[in-house]
Amino acid sequence: RTVYVNGAYLPETEAVVSVFDRGFLMADAVYEVTSVLGGRLIDFAGHCARLERSLAELDMRKPACFDALLDIHRELVARNGLEDGLIYLQVTRGSPGDRDFVFPDPDATEPTVVLFTQSKPGLADSAQAKTGLKVISVEDIRWGRRDIKTVQLLYPSMGKMMAKKAGADDAWLVEDGCVTEGTSNNAYIVLNGRIVTRALGADILHGITRAAVLRFAREAQMEVEERSFTIAEAQGADEAFVTSASAFVMPVVEIDGVTLGDGAPGPVARRLREIYIDESLKTAV
Ligand code: PLP
Repeated sequence: RTVYVNGAYLPETEAVVSVFDRGFLMADAVYEVTSVLGGRLIDFAGHCARLERSLAELDMRKPACFDALLDIHRELVARNGLEDGLIYLQVTRGSPGDRDFVFPDPDATEPTVVLFTQSKPGLADSAQAKTGLKVISVEDIRWGRRDIKTVQLLYPSMGKMMAKKAGADDAWLVEDGCVTEGTSNNAYIVLNGRIVTRALGADILHGITRAAVLRFAREAQMEVEERSFTIAEAQGADEAFVTSASAFVMPVVEIDGVTLGDGAPGPVARRLREIYIDESLKTAV
């Protein structure tokens, strides 16, 4: 696999980043994940806009290659012959040369930029979408700025491990009695045809897929309600699903051991998955 590191395309075994990089020492870094279908990038403009916002919220300067990011993504797709999969874009505050809590002078320290691809043949046709996910609930103990897409993924990673140990696929995070989001996705329930998902705020990531799915749902005359919900309400819902750039729209069929409906992916989730994939392919670049 070829990866991109600070302006160079290199074999992954030759790519290096300083041991003093703040991404490594302080999790002082943000990232984006863009899906690739048929060699084309899905929702690229949305991911770029969110990256710009994440950088601004952390007073991190834009890397010099910012305006060339689309070309870099495309080049990596071409060099790796990527058909279906994901592209990860990681941006750290850089390597000031020594460890220090104080941010380095932004004029003297160039952000570190790394991109790598993951091949996922048949991404849009995943077997999991046909059976749906089982989720468990775990307490949401992450920091208070989940709207910034930082690389602080330890707790989400632990949440996935707790799910795995419990025989489930993923975890929904719960704060003050309500679901915030999944470990790596936004969470939804469906009540009498109405789509319910938590409103945007600092407590969840503003999913690029969420924005697109809600827009497509409204365009298809489906009702959307942006409000918090509890695990008990979700367990009594007609359907549930999650959205993310890597899973698109993924049905949820079990929550904390309670089966939703007949245990099969529901019609609203199935329809939204189809609409999302069809519509976002039209604007893929
Ligand atoms: N919420 C969290 C915590 C995530 O990590 C992600 C994606 O990685 C999402 C939501 C979904 O965001 P997007 O649709 O932009 O991939």
